[in-house]
Amino acid sequence: MSNLERDPVASECGGGVGVAAEPVRDLLTGHQVALGGPRGLEVTRTLPTRGRRMVGAWCFVDHYGPVAIDGATAGRPNGSAGMRVPPHPHTGLQTVSWLVEGEVLHRDSLGSTQLVTPGQLNLMTAGHGISHSEETPREHSPRLHGVQLWVALPGAAVSTAPAFAHHADLPVATGDGVTTTVIMGELGGAASPARVLTPLVGAELRLAPGAAARLPLAPDFEHAVLPMAGSAQVDGVPLAPGPLLYLGTGRRDLAVACADGEGPGARLLLIGGVPFEEKLVMWWNLVGRTHEEIVRAREQWQAADPRFGTVTGYDGERLPAPAMPATPLKPRGRVS
Ligand code: MN
Repeated sequence: MSNLERDPVASECGGGVGVAAEPVRDLLTGHQVALGGPRGLEVTRTLPTRGRRMVGAWCFVDHYGPVAIDGATAGRPNGSAGMRVPPHPHTGLQTVSWLVEGEVLHRDSLGSTQLVTPGQLNLMTAGHGISHSEETPREHSPRLHGVQLWVALPGAAVSTAPAFAHHADLPVATGDGVTTTVIMGELGGAASPARVLTPLVGAELRLAPGAAARLPLAPDFEHAVLPMAGSAQVDGVPLAPGPLLYLGTGRRDLAVACADGEGPGARLLLIGGVPFEEKLVMWWNLVGRTHEEIVRAREQWQAADPRFGTVTGYDGERLPAPAMPATPLKPRGRVS
């Protein structure tokens, strides 16, 4: 997905400032963002947010749905049209697409056309530059629910060739009422085949009613948990969809539980990684190190420079970049 805001706020992050050096329980409420007009998709963005811009290399967390999208095709006025994100560029990051319900069709400037469905990972590595579109396919399930995350690339990887990978076969483990799918990195001895460029983890946790477990964590990572469905307790904190629970560093394990009467159970997303030391500038859909780098990438996108290639097959126009802010973007700390 994309940052479709017409007036995106510059976000400068990294640098190792503001990494909690101990376990904490910090609820980040995030904010609502409407993607793509009145019938577009409403997302809750919990990274970057006030007081916290990164968790490891994870630098962007959008959670959307569950939303009914059957109305769009049945001609009823109240349904969302689903996802419709026109071709737009990325630099310096990986996009991680993960669904709970429904389908999203990805097309990119490498020529990839890939449907992603629940339990599968679409991972796009922008490297030096790529463009893509994401949309609800013509034939689709009645509901859409998922997350879109970005992972910042380390300086050594920002000039790599762009790449796209679809992973339909990720490691899944079940124990103590928790079914864990390792999306990125390694958890509990199971490793995802997905390409990672800094030490990090991303995992989906499905908690059955009555589940109570302790997940092993890497103590040098900082972690956070996003509740996606149902209600759960994470390190004793009651969680339901909305906020992101930031957990700090220094944890060897994490208690997760779901009450006995909790309907179909709960679904959580765990993210974490070694605190990202490099300073970054994030603006619109671009991640870089300097203001000048972002200005150049924006100009190249506007000029249809070959750096970002061409997305074919999307029924609509490419997304124009917003105007740059009046004041230069400059790196600042991770937290503010
Ligand atoms: Mn995107």
